[in-house]
Amino acid sequence: MKKPMTTQRLVVGIFTWIVFVTWLSPPPVRAQENVRNGDIDGSGIIDISDPLALLGYLFLGGPPPTPLVCPTPGDCGIDEPPASFESQYYGSLDLEKAAREQYGFLARLVSTGEHLYDWKARVGREDKPLDIRRAVTNQYGAGWSVVSTGVHRFDWKAFRLSDPDFVVLPVMLVASDKFWDIAGVARAVIRYRSVLARVQGWYQNRVEGRLRFLQPLVLSTSLTSAQWNELSAMTAQESTRYVLLNQCIQSHENLLPAPGNNLRVALSVYTGDSADVWLGAASTGRYAMAPPRATSLDCPALGPLDSFCADAAYAIGHELGHTFGLGHTCDEYPGHPRCSNSIMQTGRPPEAILLQREICILLASPFFHPLTGAGGGVAMESPVAALLGDRR
Ligand SMILES: [Zn+2]
Repeated sequence: MKKPMTTQRLVVGIFTWIVFVTWLSPPPVRAQENVRNGDIDGSGIIDISDPLALLGYLFLGGPPPTPLVCPTPGDCGIDEPPASFESQYYGSLDLEKAAREQYGFLARLVSTGEHLYDWKARVGREDKPLDIRRAVTNQYGAGWSVVSTGVHRFDWKAFRLSDPDFVVLPVMLVASDKFWDIAGVARAVIRYRSVLARVQGWYQNRVEGRLRFLQPLVLSTSLTSAQWNELSAMTAQESTRYVLLNQCIQSHENLLPAPGNNLRVALSVYTGDSADVWLGAASTGRYAMAPPRATSLDCPALGPLDSFCADAAYAIGHELGHTFGLGHTCDEYPGHPRCSNSIMQTGRPPEAILLQREICILLASPFFHPLTGAGGGVAMESPVAALLGDRR
């Protein structure tokens, strides 16, 4: 008669199995520092290889756990966006599952560095490329796009452009020579947000409706910083006035579907520290575009703006105004004594105004949502600045 297995024999059996599997497993990737508790082998994700690596260290003389390093925001692409930049439409990806789906159940997910493109599927001792687009389609469905909110390895997301209800989607196009600069791109996203936040706060003050912004997306492009900056300079000529806008839209549509009526896309370009590259802001249809200056400035959340920040906020605020149906104020309302103070003419935030008739047009647009609670989570301009508004 067979004896029932005792608890002791069971534990010994499991331990033997773990030791055997640990011995079979390829060595973990240790090229980078750990940024998450529990990621013992520093592979970038927490999976079965982590307890195995820990057991290997404790009992088999394996390498010690990768040290836990807490990143500074902006240092390596880890960034907590403020609540006023919404991210609920961005789905996370199970890349471990993707590795197994694409290369079989023995495949392991590893990262060979900190960049978006450093994820690999390790099969035996070989690293194979991971198809992120296929992972999004398998895990979410055909209507979903693969996007990223930076170029750090944790920035991959799934997004369906038809999901949000009337929001502004900021998109930062990245010059090809900056695409591998993880910290530079993360800093530029924070800078772009500092400009967008002033546009959001300004509109909220003038219109008393909340303009919702998503967390900016980051898209790669095939143009270098020098080529992008040259396009901006070319817009000074009337015959090439729209070359920067057109290239931005083309770069966007190379990777993402054109926006539906539920979105307005606020485009800008990251070409390194380019605060002096400011020519060429333009808009058409559902796209508003600001030149590279908008991704190069650290603008304060409240209070006065220097001429650079005021110009960048004006570029985005003005071009978005066109996408909501506003024309140039002095053309639409000729002879109005304050038409030139409007953001739709030459008025710069935070002092820029909107005429009452412009406010009515915006309030009738579905993009201006009712204010919920005090401030709706958006930084408000000072009352003095608000009083300068034209509310007749
Ligand atoms: Zn205009």
